[in-house]
Amino acid sequence: MTDAVIDAIASLPPLRETIRSNGLDARKNLGQNFLLDLNLTGRIARSAAPFSSTVVEIGPGPGGLTRALLMEGAEDVIAIEKDRRAIDALAPLVDAAAGRLRIIEGDALEVDIASLVGPKGQIVANLPYNIATVLLLNWLDQLDHLSAMTLMFQKEVGQRITASPGSGEFGRLAVMCQWLCRAVMLFDIPPQAFVPPPKVTSSVVQLIPRPNPLAQADKTLLEDVTRVLFGQRRKMLRASLKTLASQMKVKGKAIDPAHLLEATGIDGQSRPERLEIEDFCRLAEAVKAART
Ligand code: SAM
Repeated sequence: MTDAVIDAIASLPPLRETIRSNGLDARKNLGQNFLLDLNLTGRIARSAAPFSSTVVEIGPGPGGLTRALLMEGAEDVIAIEKDRRAIDALAPLVDAAAGRLRIIEGDALEVDIASLVGPKGQIVANLPYNIATVLLLNWLDQLDHLSAMTLMFQKEVGQRITASPGSGEFGRLAVMCQWLCRAVMLFDIPPQAFVPPPKVTSSVVQLIPRPNPLAQADKTLLEDVTRVLFGQRRKMLRASLKTLASQMKVKGKAIDPAHLLEATGIDGQSRPERLEIEDFCRLAEAVKAART
């Protein structure tokens, strides 16, 4: 990053002024809680560095994190924002960034990340919490094009993404994310760091796609298995596998729940939060084998 660009960004009006002069009062339906603390935006950006490829930011809002990404050396930032008022507010930052920042006005739920980033890119975002997990699950289908995701969630969601087997937070989200990525909780951000402050603490989570999934499994079947078993998380597996077997049968071909236990070596008296991710993969593979 040249000094001229850093100087130009550093000379922009403070974020509070950007918000005020553009009438960017926060809207709940857009999950708008703006992070104005430069120490924290810098810390998030440094956690995502180095920036060797395109950085996609979802929901730049007034541009606090966007400024930090550029100041920390990102040379190709694409920011996707749904709120027209924010797009207008970001115009001076686009000028200051001298070709390093492109803004796309649109809905991140409909944007194909792969088509934006070329072979590999990374996502960095303070996500709108109302659609954060849906976005993350969408990106799990595009991991071939991603080298990392550094994302802020409500802390409780961050805990569910990074949970280990045996913990109360371990569930479908942990299995699907950690099957494909290494997921670590980096640090918390308190409500008062935002304008307006949300009701809950936030956490920055980093997900790095694995070169290969933790174990062989069909993704759709793994989703089905985790949906059914965690849908009955208090039941022992020998009971919930009956539900799984009946829901997974195809063209009337019955699946024997006892056979699923036998084929996988899983203890029928265990509960789903006690299983390892590889166990869920084995179950998905056993269902697949029983259907063919
Ligand atoms: N990055 C800014 C920050 O850290 O201060 C704003 C973060 S705020 C939590 C979420 C941002 O996502 C808002 O700017 C909001 O307008 C935007 N947003 C909400 N829904 C969106 C969607 N479906 N597509 C793109 N942006 C969206």
